[in-house]
Amino acid sequence: MTSLLLAVLLLPPAAAAEERPNIIMLDICSTRADHFGTYGYPRDTTPHMDALGQGGAVFENAMSEGSWCLPSYASLLTGHVPEVHGLYTSLLAQGLPKFESTLASELRRSGYRTALFSGGVYLRPEWGLTKGFDTYVNTFSTSTPGRIPAPFETNLDDLLAWVKKERRSGPFFVFATIDDLHVPYHSSDPDQYDPGYQGVARDTDVFSVPFARAYNDEPSGYPESMKAKVAAFKSDPRHLRHLIARYDAALHSADQRIGEFLAQLKRLGLDKNTVLIVTADHGELLGEKGLLNHTQSLYEPVLHVPLIVKHPGLPKLAGRRFSQLVQRIDLMPTILELAEAPAQHLELQGRSLMPLLRDPGAPWREVAFARSKRNLARLSDLNIEERVAREKCWKLHHYLYKDRYELYDLCSDPLEAEDLAAERPDIAQRLSFALVKDMEVSRPHVSGLPSGRTPRSLDLAPLPPKD
Ligand SMILES: [Zn+2]
Repeated sequence: MTSLLLAVLLLPPAAAAEERPNIIMLDICSTRADHFGTYGYPRDTTPHMDALGQGGAVFENAMSEGSWCLPSYASLLTGHVPEVHGLYTSLLAQGLPKFESTLASELRRSGYRTALFSGGVYLRPEWGLTKGFDTYVNTFSTSTPGRIPAPFETNLDDLLAWVKKERRSGPFFVFATIDDLHVPYHSSDPDQYDPGYQGVARDTDVFSVPFARAYNDEPSGYPESMKAKVAAFKSDPRHLRHLIARYDAALHSADQRIGEFLAQLKRLGLDKNTVLIVTADHGELLGEKGLLNHTQSLYEPVLHVPLIVKHPGLPKLAGRRFSQLVQRIDLMPTILELAEAPAQHLELQGRSLMPLLRDPGAPWREVAFARSKRNLARLSDLNIEERVAREKCWKLHHYLYKDRYELYDLCSDPLEAEDLAAERPDIAQRLSFALVKDMEVSRPHVSGLPSGRTPRSLDLAPLPPKD
């Protein structure tokens, strides 16, 4: 054996580990893709994230697995769909099941240092999703009036201090959730896009979950007095325009903080060996379909999330746009591949994006799926109530509580205004079969009685009228 070969064989494992990139994932709660400049929005809401996209890859059709924080975070951090990890509703008040590992646990096992920064309630330890993080900072406070999430600025100093401290000790993984766009739409300049407005949307109740429930005509979850506020709000579309301006101001404000963070990373020289991922756990309805907030549906304002990946080792990606259907369950296999960490034992249900990033023509999925369980007290059964199957253009909605499908052509009707289920039964049938097949292959099958699975209240609730 030559001395050179011997020297190579005797290299410590740390030498290889040092070459692996740092990974930072910023997950912006309630952020719809179509309000970013890079996705075509006319307001200059996201200059820093747009610039990040110009230096990296922008995924034009990224889909969340569900409609709200808990199932979406759980799918991101386990790589499994909600039918498997079980956190599709908070009604069960259970944490992550014992058989689930997490992205952070796997990265830590392979030599990464891991940190979580959040202002949201579902990344508190009781939900189990903090498993595997060496450092955990959550500024959410249960004593905050209205239990509103804490904005990014409450975590930013801790996040920067952690990165500065850890940057020379080998690769790290940071997962930071940014909660500024969850109601009440936190912003440093809330009126920037609608100065001078003095209408009913100045009432702070308008920017609350109970107001959205009343606006959406849900049967409960708000005081009776909220109905009068909703009526005043709906009396003039001017008020909705102000709400949208406030949402955009929150997005702009979050973008400013992200810009500050990215500038600091560059100053520390971390832009050269750090993969940056920006995405969102779900979007937000801003009046589309007569709805506000996000738990209520799987329409595009909720499902279509941003996804930007900047990889310093793949400079050819700069400015490249991908139209493939990608999902958040794809991020765990992607990150584990980046980290050279084993993944086969985890039975992950997504696909690594790395083959696509290396070759944009690589084969990819043709259909993507999502599902939702609304947390309504009336429908307290443990059923997933709505499912979606989506192809490039066609999207099918299936409801457990309705006796019909909805079908939309997203290529010509991106906000799903015209239901084409009656006109195109051939497409509806094709996607129905795809949906049933996906359920059979992706959900767990366990023996036992169907107790707890029967839709009792659905039997009692009258079906909504056909319109
Ligand atoms: Zn969320």
